[in-house]
Amino acid sequence: MHELGIAQNILQIVQQAVPETGAPCVRIIRIRVGQLSGVVPDSLDFCFSAIVNDTEMKQARLEIEQVPLTSECRDCRQRFPINELDFFCPACKSTNLELVSGRELEVVEIEMADESDGTP
Ligand SMILES: [Zn+2]
Repeated sequence: MHELGIAQNILQIVQQAVPETGAPCVRIIRIRVGQLSGVVPDSLDFCFSAIVNDTEMKQARLEIEQVPLTSECRDCRQRFPINELDFFCPACKSTNLELVSGRELEVVEIEMADESDGTP
C-alpha cells in the first residue's frame, strides 16, 4: 500500500529529528501533502496510527495539510490553481505551464509536549 510506505517514511524522519528520549513527547506531526502525490489523507492517518502503536510515539498524531495544484504560466507568469482539465493559463490561454506546487510530501513541524510539567 502506497500510504503505508509513506507513513513509515514520516516516522523515520521524525525519529531522526527527535532524540530517542523525546519520542514520548511528540504530540502532533504536521505534514504537507500535494494533491498530485496521490495520497489519501484518511488512509495515511490510519497507516500512521497503526505503525506508531508499536513505538514510543504512539500518542503522536498526524495533521495533514493538503496542498492544491498550482501552475505558473511560462508566458505571462500568472499563477493559478489547476482544476483538473483546465490545463491552460486563464490570463493568456497559453498551455506553456509549469507545475509549481502539488507534489509536496514533507514534514513541516513536529510539536512536542511541554516537558516542564513537574518532573525535575
Ligand atoms: Zn499566461
